[in-house]
Amino acid sequence: MIKVVKNIIDMQKISLEHKLKGDKIAVVPTMGFLHEGHLSLIRKAREFTESVVTTLFVNPSQFGPNEDYNRYPRNFERDLDLCNQAGSKYLFNPEVLDMYPKGFNTSIKISGVTDKFEGEFRPGHFDGVATVVAKLFNSTLPDYAVFGQKDYQQTLLIKKLTKDLNFPIEIVIAPTIREIDGLAMSSRNTYLDIEIRKKAGVLFYALNEARKIISEGETNRLRINTSLHKALRTIPEIKIDYAASALADTLDEPESFFPGDSVVILIAAYLGKTRLIDNEIVKIPYKLNEENFIIT
Ligand code: AMP
Repeated sequence: MIKVVKNIIDMQKISLEHKLKGDKIAVVPTMGFLHEGHLSLIRKAREFTESVVTTLFVNPSQFGPNEDYNRYPRNFERDLDLCNQAGSKYLFNPEVLDMYPKGFNTSIKISGVTDKFEGEFRPGHFDGVATVVAKLFNSTLPDYAVFGQKDYQQTLLIKKLTKDLNFPIEIVIAPTIREIDGLAMSSRNTYLDIEIRKKAGVLFYALNEARKIISEGETNRLRINTSLHKALRTIPEIKIDYAASALADTLDEPESFFPGDSVVILIAAYLGKTRLIDNEIVKIPYKLNEENFIIT
């Protein structure tokens, strides 16, 4: 049966006791209102160890002043039940005032991979993410931490945070779990009204259009981006924050990509009032001649 841990010091003690026994700890940070995407991360964590800690904390510092912190969906009992079924041993659920007591004065800022895309449209968001993840790492003392590719730029930030601050943690990235029409699962999908929900598969459609032209030989970045915008604009209610392609490791945006490059296609767009993000990683194919040799 899963155990709920509210207190940071209690959580540290539990993790240390496991470590003394030689157990490995895996952490799955979440903001709750769990769906199959989150549960897939818990199951992935279970591949590494039985001592899985899921964290449930709606982190105020990663929401902008006009964002949805107060109305972010919450359902503790349901989350607890789902976590338990997915095989998490602990649910770490600290209070805001325990994470950020009066006088809390630290913020972690990671530059580079956070500068554009989400970083540009959600100023301060990644500082909040980096700071809370560092605190969750220090609270749960994991050997493994599992995150979803769904938040692609966040995965780059977490890897950089872990490396730059020498956390002895292996970062594991798990694939995006989607609804039948391709919409990436998200706690925020509950905001979509029925009519808009029917159109929300357009993000996945756009990602696939980009994938298709890349597989057919397109390497020009702006032409790839144009195909994304064109596909998204088939829905009149859409407001695009960005729809772009970039080198997956660095988010650099060269004029053209090269065969063998890993390219990330990134989308953030409002459908009605709901902001959705999605991404896919695509490899730029090698060109072959008639004898199936790579043309360089
Ligand atoms: P959140 O509760 O939205 O902060 O997400 C917690 C973790 O779940 C993050 O690592 C997300 O990337 C991951 N996640 C969210 N949605 C999905 C999804 N559809 N598939 C896989 N992982 C996801």
